[in-house]
Amino acid sequence: MKLLVIGSGGREHALVWKLAQSPHVTQMWCAPGNAGIAEERLARNQLAVECVNLGADDLPALLAFAREKKADLTVVGPDNPLAMGIVDLFQKNGARIWGPNQKAAQFESSKVFAQNFMEKYGIPTARAGTFSDARAARDFAAALGGQCAVKADGLALGKGVLICGSVPEAERAIDEILVGKAFGAAGSKIVIQEFLEGVEISLHALCDGTTAKLFPTAQDHKRALDGDEGLNTGGMGAYSPTPFLDDARLAEVGREILDPWLKGCAAEGIDFRGILYPGVMLTKDGPRVLEFNARFGDPETQVYLTRLENDLVELLDASVNGTLSRVDLKWSPMPSVCVVLASGGYPGAYAKGKCITGLTQAGQLPHTKVFHAGTARSGDRIVTNGGRVLGVTAWAGDLSRARGAAYAAVEKIQFDGAQFRRDIAAKALRQAQIQSHSERMKFNL
Ligand code: AMP
Repeated sequence: MKLLVIGSGGREHALVWKLAQSPHVTQMWCAPGNAGIAEERLARNQLAVECVNLGADDLPALLAFAREKKADLTVVGPDNPLAMGIVDLFQKNGARIWGPNQKAAQFESSKVFAQNFMEKYGIPTARAGTFSDARAARDFAAALGGQCAVKADGLALGKGVLICGSVPEAERAIDEILVGKAFGAAGSKIVIQEFLEGVEISLHALCDGTTAKLFPTAQDHKRALDGDEGLNTGGMGAYSPTPFLDDARLAEVGREILDPWLKGCAAEGIDFRGILYPGVMLTKDGPRVLEFNARFGDPETQVYLTRLENDLVELLDASVNGTLSRVDLKWSPMPSVCVVLASGGYPGAYAKGKCITGLTQAGQLPHTKVFHAGTARSGDRIVTNGGRVLGVTAWAGDLSRARGAAYAAVEKIQFDGAQFRRDIAAKALRQAQIQSHSERMKFNL
């Protein structure tokens, strides 16, 4: 099979790395890819993955490329081309593609759509209202005592959510988005949700239009600094599985979310083939969906795909063909941890072109994979080319060792201004210690 993968981040490097292991794949391109993706080789014939200089949003050029190369399947990584309707465009032109169509991608591209859907079909979510009128929005926020999340309806590069702790703060957020148009047309409508407290986890389910197969849990670390301080980022690290839901409870939570979601999709004529990724807050009153994404999480993909034992090509094929009910997902029991190395200043302004050293040494460590995100090749060097630069990922027999291995690999890598969080998976380890202590108490060990 010939594959085209669209995107250039750590998620896409993980997808390419995993897809390249499949004996089905004879040739692979990535548009536009990055320096790490360009180093991957196919397990079947040792052919290099070829990066092609086409933007992930350039839909006509991507279609023309896929047709010219007779790609058997195009795999879409990021949200933007999905929201723009790349799947519909390819399908109309007889080109096979994996990902949700534009209508299905609305779960991510419109928070108003997603919130209304959750309420209509009884998916557990936060108390919320949707607004285009600032005065009504202010009244709703005031009724919540200002403790709320104000969210722009459309895609806003992950920056469209403002968490507020008081009425004046909420009013400022509403004015900024609805009146000041801080996010342009993406903010012509907003969702206001009550502020929820709890542990936030990521769920993923692979879907084929009628079946949804739940992944194990993962947890992202969205804030820039240790202790969940600092600005929101695209994600500074992740690990899987989390100790916050055991398998039985995960299955229950999955059903509470996915059963009504599948019913709603059937009722609304939504044919969702791709990854549904709900962001979930585990509150003391039960799970609550904060948002839906319609693609793989980044950096969750890096920890999921280092645990996945199935052939990913076969899974994506089944998702496109509607035959997922015949497939069982298989996961390595080894936990996986990904630590993101970012450019100094990220998520604000940052410099590019800094030389990265130590990649070879880090890559030689056992059970370790350094996924590239914002990197480029400059002559014989690899340099920084984005905010999130690398996703250093390691797996081991337990979470503590996986975490230690990921940080040991991080220590080998250097570039000017590199920043990373030192507490990825730290809360999970504390939780696991508490659990094992209370187990010991229970059994009087
Ligand atoms: P979203 O893009 O909707 O997931 O929001 C981005 C981040 O804001 C989430 O990952 C949460 O950390 C936080 N957040 C969103 N909604 C809420 C809420 N209702 N209560 C508390 N935190 C929230």
